[in-house]
Amino acid sequence: MPDDHMTPDEFREYGKEVIDWIADYYKWVETYPVLSQVKPGDIRSGLPPSAPQKGESMSAMLDDMDHLIMPGITHWQSPNFFAFYPCNSSGPGILGELLSAGLNVQGMNWVTSPACTELEAHVLDWLVEMLDLPEKFRSTNAGGGVIQDTASSATLCATLAARERATDGQSNHVGADHSLVAYASHESHSSIEKALRIAGIGTDRMRVIPTDESYAMDAHELEDQILRDKAEDFKPFIVYGTVGSTSSGSLDPLESIGSICQREGIWFHVDAAMLGTAALCPEFRYIQEGLEYADSYCFNPHKWMFTNFDCDCLFVADRNALTRALTINREYLGDFPSKSAGEDNYRDWQIPLGRRFRSLKLWFVIRYYGVEGLQKHIREHVEMAQEFARWVDDDPNFERLAPVSLQLVCFAHTAGNDITKSLLDSINASGKIYLSQTMLRGRFTIRISIGQANTRKRHVRAAWELIQKTARELAL
Ligand SMILES: *Cc1c(COP(=O)(O)O)cnc(C)c1O
Repeated sequence: MPDDHMTPDEFREYGKEVIDWIADYYKWVETYPVLSQVKPGDIRSGLPPSAPQKGESMSAMLDDMDHLIMPGITHWQSPNFFAFYPCNSSGPGILGELLSAGLNVQGMNWVTSPACTELEAHVLDWLVEMLDLPEKFRSTNAGGGVIQDTASSATLCATLAARERATDGQSNHVGADHSLVAYASHESHSSIEKALRIAGIGTDRMRVIPTDESYAMDAHELEDQILRDKAEDFKPFIVYGTVGSTSSGSLDPLESIGSICQREGIWFHVDAAMLGTAALCPEFRYIQEGLEYADSYCFNPHKWMFTNFDCDCLFVADRNALTRALTINREYLGDFPSKSAGEDNYRDWQIPLGRRFRSLKLWFVIRYYGVEGLQKHIREHVEMAQEFARWVDDDPNFERLAPVSLQLVCFAHTAGNDITKSLLDSINASGKIYLSQTMLRGRFTIRISIGQANTRKRHVRAAWELIQKTARELAL
């Protein structure tokens, strides 16, 4: 009887083709226009209106990858990608992800694949040591780490845990507490406001704290706002600090914020999605000074640590605070004995029930590079960004608009917002490099984020030359 599933032998054959395809992709990625050049609708218009009735050949599908899909790809893996933040992959990251796809286990409970739970807990304990995070985040203490899809989910989980703690476990009941208020700076990530909306706190209860001249949260303003809120019978329940804000790369003063939180009994969540990886290098650990005060902390290996998307690590100081907020047992979910054996079910640490075996790729990356290998790349990126900042400072046509936060440089053309915007638009339209933008105190700002895994000095140099040349052309 013919089997219409792909047989293991067919899989072996096509799998090799796909691996070859990916290897070629990495070989040539530098030559592609970084920003996809298609117009809205171009990709869909190349696709048939309905699904095929009969199965098609793998060669037809791979052919369509080249002709239909590739033109619509913006190349995040290009060394000339300097926009937003990196979304890095690596050989070991891709292969770990592939093995995870191959096994395709669903690790909701310890028993549904013990390796999925135990490897994750273990690798996150490794990270506590690798990044010199507070010992309380270790699973062997009261805390522990868990892999989430994104920092947005990590922030939402932290928010729910904080809400639960602030309402003495009543947060899941209607009308439990309508007086909760949260605090984050102007520069905080949009995912924080989104988490507050989802958690039922609401945008109106997010107090936006002003920042100082370096775009860091002003801790005095935070303290004043907390006192004002308490005087009006609001209940402050969470403060979000940021290590490396998306807009400017700013660093909130964790120590001052943390001591206020401790005194007031407020949950302190630290979002280091991008810059957290820098703590692999002892000389950059100043960015997380004061982290001892944090109740929860997250960073994204899928940004700067060469681990394929998606992979965010969330650490909590008290795992019970998190699982109290998120545990719902049903008979059909089974597996209560494993809990008594001391194993947590990670379904109680996250929003969805099901979960992928994400720790495999992280484990592969850490083992393949070793701590020293990872440190080397981070140091190179930081060095390149510092050098880029010096070039900006030395050119009278350009001005830096924020302190360099390790790998992000924010700058503008001195001729003003319109010229800076046209400059960015024409550079990105060229397809040679991809940069992104922000607004800093009314100034249209170009951001160059240096951290793509394959970026070398020559790429950064060429990017700067292109920026200067384009600016000269625009001025004509
Ligand atoms: C990138 C980033 C986020 C959002 O990351 P996701 O993982 O995509 O949700 C949040 N906060 C900061 C500081 C970031 O850099």
